[in-house]
Amino acid sequence: MRVFFSAQHKSHSPKTFISKGKILESPEQPKRADILEKAARLAGHDFIEAKKYGLKPVKSIHDAGYIHFLKTAWSIWKTTPDSGTEIIPNVHPGRNMNASPNSIISLAGHYQADTACPIGEGTYEGIIASSDVAVSGAYAIMTDIKNGNSKSFAYSLCRPPGHHAFADQAGGFCFFNNAAIAAQVCLNNGAKRVAILDVDVHHGNGTQGIFYHRSDVFTISLHGDPLFYYPFFAGHRDEVGSHEGTNYNLNYPLPRGTNDKDYLSALNEAIDKISIYQPDVLIVALGLDASIADPLAFLSITSHGFFEIGKAIANASIPTLLIQEGGYISPVLGDNLAAVLGGFEEIR
Ligand SMILES: [Zn+2]
Repeated sequence: MRVFFSAQHKSHSPKTFISKGKILESPEQPKRADILEKAARLAGHDFIEAKKYGLKPVKSIHDAGYIHFLKTAWSIWKTTPDSGTEIIPNVHPGRNMNASPNSIISLAGHYQADTACPIGEGTYEGIIASSDVAVSGAYAIMTDIKNGNSKSFAYSLCRPPGHHAFADQAGGFCFFNNAAIAAQVCLNNGAKRVAILDVDVHHGNGTQGIFYHRSDVFTISLHGDPLFYYPFFAGHRDEVGSHEGTNYNLNYPLPRGTNDKDYLSALNEAIDKISIYQPDVLIVALGLDASIADPLAFLSITSHGFFEIGKAIANASIPTLLIQEGGYISPVLGDNLAAVLGGFEEIR
């Protein structure tokens, strides 16, 4: 398996995570990618340094004001008197206030949906690199297709993840939506339809939001039931898309503790729907946090389950780009990545 990667992710190193009123260390640490890199190298996969594409592909998905905020926020913040070492919003416009933001504190509240996406000194460089990793994978797939290889596949080891990022809003460890950017690169380079299958334990709310009105990208997410789990305010079964995108968004909220067998049954149903859609490219938002051992655990997928997930996705026989999303540090994080990639390659 080709693995696209950039060590530049390390410049984004968030410190703070607030959960149920407790201030904790962010689980979205550079060490996550170290573990995933090591596991993929040990399994014999081929690493390719991501090319630098910069902002051009990002602009095809994200709002100009939001990009400007991410680019400039730190330089303003560091000169703000009495400011901390990370930009974390402490006020949001919410339901009852909607005046335009202008100060750095109000801009943070406007562009950062929650406290789980702190911005630090090297965040901007890290998130651009993560997008570059996704875009490199997308170009590799499209080049293969143009050369007649309909069995093309690759893995983009992105960090930080992207699927909670909307066109104009960060959230849940995510800033630029890597899978959405990659999908648009495919569409701009010959693909007519793209499906994004999100197997992260959290609903891909940003990806859903970006493509909610569109029929050229079919978004499907399997995730812990948002009645009880982040992102709470999206990911329910009745969210099916709107306007031209009606019936091109599909959610599978799953009960706490869902095991391999029940998960695979829902996954195979989702893959059948994707096959009917006949996309030119399948992008998999590959979270590994559905693991039973994940520190954010909600579902109960074993390493063998991840192997079967890899096989099921490969069985769809569609050119496929796997893009890393969540998955946090546990004794089996690396094993689970190796299992998905191994299962995929067993079929292809
Ligand atoms: Zn997740």
